[in-house]
Amino acid sequence: MARYICASCGTVHEITLSRWKCDCGGMLDLDFDRKGLDPAAWPGYPASIFRYAETMPLEYEDWKPVTMGEGQTPLIVLDGARAGTYVKVDYMMPTLSFKDRGAAVLMAKSKVLGAGKVIADSSGNAGTAIAAYAARCNIACDIYLSDATSPKKVAQVKAHGAEIRQINGTREDIAAAAQRAVAREGVFYASHVYNPYFYEGTKTYAFEIFEELGRAPDTLIVPVGNGTLLLGAYYGFKELMDSGVIDRLPKIVAVQAANCAPLARAFERGESVAAPVQNTGTLAEGIAIAAPARAPQILEAVRETGGEFISVEESEIAEARREMSEKGFYVEVTSAANYAGYLKYVKKEDETLVIPLCAAGIKSE
Ligand SMILES: *Cc1c(COP(=O)(O)O)cnc(C)c1O
Ligand SMILES: [Zn+2]
Repeated sequence: MARYICASCGTVHEITLSRWKCDCGGMLDLDFDRKGLDPAAWPGYPASIFRYAETMPLEYEDWKPVTMGEGQTPLIVLDGARAGTYVKVDYMMPTLSFKDRGAAVLMAKSKVLGAGKVIADSSGNAGTAIAAYAARCNIACDIYLSDATSPKKVAQVKAHGAEIRQINGTREDIAAAAQRAVAREGVFYASHVYNPYFYEGTKTYAFEIFEELGRAPDTLIVPVGNGTLLLGAYYGFKELMDSGVIDRLPKIVAVQAANCAPLARAFERGESVAAPVQNTGTLAEGIAIAAPARAPQILEAVRETGGEFISVEESEIAEARREMSEKGFYVEVTSAANYAGYLKYVKKEDETLVIPLCAAGIKSE
């Protein structure tokens, strides 16, 4: 049976509607009997992230009514001039961002737990994904957002019937407001950052790349704010390695916006925790996280893979958005940071590398 385990003090907790962090303040991970992976079994499942359902602590009846066909996104060559560089088109998702991977699993679990209402906070895309899957599960939903969130994202959340609570403050102020409401109302905190079920969904990013390439790539370019894609990708490749399916983890090259880069700074200084920074303003609203709650886990994951951090400037993000569009890929401004990071990365001739296209261009200005 699955249970929560504290990443800081190791205390084990039962999985309940109200538990979202340890009493010591530590982050919760999932502890369950992970079966070894068997890629030969995967083709027996439908074409969605639940192709890998055997690797998740969920039953068929749990996810079957919830899935909207998320995942199994294309992996394609970026352009003819760049051998070995692939993009994974994760904007081809029900709500147009990779957050559907995690939201589908998390909302399936909240339904199993009997949630009548959920609360989440987000810079936009996670809130949209939670709102959509909450609608599909007939669960009421409040989403806490900044009053500066792109109007198109706000409209998308509203369309799914979620109540919007727009707050004037930092991303941390918004999370704190959501957490106070969770305590006041006694409802489920459907947090993509805190709840480890979300990462059971984002780890499928790794499984799909493995299937599409027929092996692990040498390198992953991954944007990082709260690290839900980065940690998911890391957990996924780690499961492949622990099962003896691959023999080496891809190197994780993490990208942050220079104007809000607490993790890049901590990494450079060799620190294992990240001191909060002041967000001085970035076009990449989706990765502008000044105090990431899972910072120690993210720093450790990047170090373990022999990876590195790259910070990108505002002008580089804007230029990367333009260049991607000229290649035919219309991505959200935040997601252009990934390509900007790639352009600063020194790639070897024979290196195989994957860049995620995290969200669709129509989500931002
Ligand atoms: C959520 C998001 C990210 C970053 O994900 P984190 O989990 O915060 O690291 C990057 N790009 C886009 C478009 C996103 O929606
Ligand atoms: Zn603890």
